[in-house]
Amino acid sequence: MTGLVADLKQFDGIGLSRMASHAKQCCQAVRHGVFARLTQYADVGAALASVPVLIRWGPVRWPAHWCDLAHQDELRGDCGVHADVAASILAREAIPYSRGRAALLTAPLAAAHWRASWNEAQSSDAWIGRTVVHHEVLRVGNRWWDPSEARWFAGAGVHLASGRVLAIREEDGPWQFDPAPSATHVLP
Ligand SMILES: [Zn+2]
Repeated sequence: MTGLVADLKQFDGIGLSRMASHAKQCCQAVRHGVFARLTQYADVGAALASVPVLIRWGPVRWPAHWCDLAHQDELRGDCGVHADVAASILAREAIPYSRGRAALLTAPLAAAHWRASWNEAQSSDAWIGRTVVHHEVLRVGNRWWDPSEARWFAGAGVHLASGRVLAIREEDGPWQFDPAPSATHVLP
């Protein structure tokens, strides 16, 4: 088993990211600060878009607690953190959604750089496959939300800034593949 299929099998073993909380001031303060800022927006779309601005994309060790996001004077978290916070915003607004995963075909140099950064931070690099990288996303209505790029997209086949979506699935659903013939060269 090679390529995309092997990577998807690896990704299926990655647990859905859910923020944990120490029952102490360390986590309560960070969590309160995050939602105090996100709930100041009247518009849900603006609140969702502000998640990766407030929490800069970078490595985090799982299981992650809220206080783990704090680095000096900024907050840092990966796409799992972004997805979990975005899910909380949708839940607060009673907007139906489901969590999901995408497999992105990215530039090899980017993957090597990310692996080095995650290794340096002693965070798991299981999300970086041989062919594609794992990215947490959300399904809202008939669209997908990329919680780290803060953009809607249609699904498999779309080019995101971090790479092309070769496969995507809702948490309890099957992988859906990029229909373009050129995508199949990475299939075994
Ligand atoms: Zn804590």
